Amino acid sequence: MRTLSGIAASPGIAVGRLCVVDHRLAVSEYPITPDAVIHETARLTKAIENTRVELESLKSRLAETSGEEHLLFIEIHLMILADERLVTETSEIIRTGLINAEGALRRTLHRYRETFAGIDDPYLRERISDVETVIEQILRNMSGEAIKPLPRQEGKMIIAAHDLSPADMLQINRDNILAIITEIGGRTSHTAILARAFDLPAVMGVDGITDLLLDGAAVIVDGLSGVVIVDPDQESFQSSLRRKQHYEYIEYELLKTAPLPAVTLDGYSMHLRGNVEIPEEGASVLEHGGSGVGLYRTEMLFMNRPDMPDEEEQLVVYRLMQQAIAPHSLTIRTLDAGGDKLLEGMDKSSETNPALGVRAIRLSLNMPDEFKKQLRAILRISADGPVRIMFPMISGLEEVRSAKALLEEAKRELTASGIPFDSTIKVGVMIEIPAAVTLADLLAREVDFFSVGTNDLIQYTLAIDRSNEQLSHLYQPLHPAVLRSLRRIVQAAHDAGIPACLCGEMAGDPLYLPVLLGLGFDELSMGAWSILRVKQILRRCSLERAARIAEGCFEFSTTGEVELYLKSQITMDVAESID
Ligand code: PEP
Ligand code: MG
Repeated sequence: MRTLSGIAASPGIAVGRLCVVDHRLAVSEYPITPDAVIHETARLTKAIENTRVELESLKSRLAETSGEEHLLFIEIHLMILADERLVTETSEIIRTGLINAEGALRRTLHRYRETFAGIDDPYLRERISDVETVIEQILRNMSGEAIKPLPRQEGKMIIAAHDLSPADMLQINRDNILAIITEIGGRTSHTAILARAFDLPAVMGVDGITDLLLDGAAVIVDGLSGVVIVDPDQESFQSSLRRKQHYEYIEYELLKTAPLPAVTLDGYSMHLRGNVEIPEEGASVLEHGGSGVGLYRTEMLFMNRPDMPDEEEQLVVYRLMQQAIAPHSLTIRTLDAGGDKLLEGMDKSSETNPALGVRAIRLSLNMPDEFKKQLRAILRISADGPVRIMFPMISGLEEVRSAKALLEEAKRELTASGIPFDSTIKVGVMIEIPAAVTLADLLAREVDFFSVGTNDLIQYTLAIDRSNEQLSHLYQPLHPAVLRSLRRIVQAAHDAGIPACLCGEMAGDPLYLPVLLGLGFDELSMGAWSILRVKQILRRCSLERAARIAEGCFEFSTTGEVELYLKSQITMDVAESID
């Protein structure tokens, strides 16, 4: 039995067999016949030779442009490549194990890792990373491409991967997946958000899970505590099953509270709404007592395809979403692609820093015709029920004005064609860039509502990559800078007489409810799973007490102090339900 820990990214407990999908190395291991041994060995030697040629050519290019120190790492890589063991041991594994060259090379890497782990000198021990880089390059040469689609599985599996992109998540056959484990990614990465939307327990940031040769092993994934147990003994197996049952019982009990109103002890009602990615999730939002959708992330419709969906196709999907949550209101966010949500044809490596690149509203404004197709489709469904439009990643007034100008054009086009729409449709912006916080008073005059995207706001305010599991401890919603931003946003919204909503992951954590309520937010939107938990706390709070708690947070100057204070302020009955 082996216990690995990571970040609890999506709740739930799953027990099953592991299927390792190693995207980083684009490798799958499969058996070969004895006849294929020569072919596989030739593929191996050819890929090693190609890698050597690539490194030599890089070396001569760098020799012209950079100093000697830059050549050192190439020398090391060339030395690793020249190591006889690489060819002899891997060929031996192909021959005796009767497996393909990629699988054999991965096993050789595993042996190297064991050898390096036993080296005393820390500098030399760390050279394993050079070996990994070289082997990865050989594997790339072997496959001829970097990333392969996920394999189709037979039977239900737990997927382990170095990384899964949101596009991968949409591609996998969810009926066959029990849970996911990844080596990288954080709680607010889009992959984690999708895992929660699809009710898949997930643990992220589990270092080395794909390298442990665990394909087919029995595992328990605990998405509540962030623990993965491989080959569990009987005791762990039974206690996990008990935990799973308890979790499912709590779920069952909570679902009974879905019809209760979202209102505080002193009678203040708050809208608790759902975040959705695909129309199938609408039913779950209603089942969990959500009063509509506060964030519909439309980008999923644009992924895994070479073209953009046209107006009619978007109309069909948006209508399905609208029908799924009727008669409640639907807030549709325009395309927020880029960053970690890549569309086909968007090359991650083409931008040095995709999180600060051509993303969201910038992308839409760069392709006004495509943008107007989306705006027309949204407008068209507004004729059938309450719909709001929301623009993502707004950094200043020009962007809002340009987006609104295109919306007006779209309206005129529909009017000219005699197509009905709600001419008073509400238009909002996401506040998720620090510049938008600074300009909140000016932005508030231009729009009908704000919705705070704390996932990005925290990322950009604290300069912490939301997908980087190594920084997850620094990703702090209660950071005084974040709290001050939230207070400023609500004040600016209310001064202008518009509602302040919040749709980042922070909305779905019951611990933050007293603060968000006390700061004066009018609406919170979250993954369906969180709605009942947040409502439970809301119903135990009074607005007056929450306002005092929120105010108290500003008396502290570090995240740790605010956290301690907040926990001390939450009374026992509330605290119990948070656990
Ligand atoms: C956010 O940034 O908080 C948000 C809701 O948008 P997304 O997670 O899709 O970037
Ligand atoms: Mg965002």
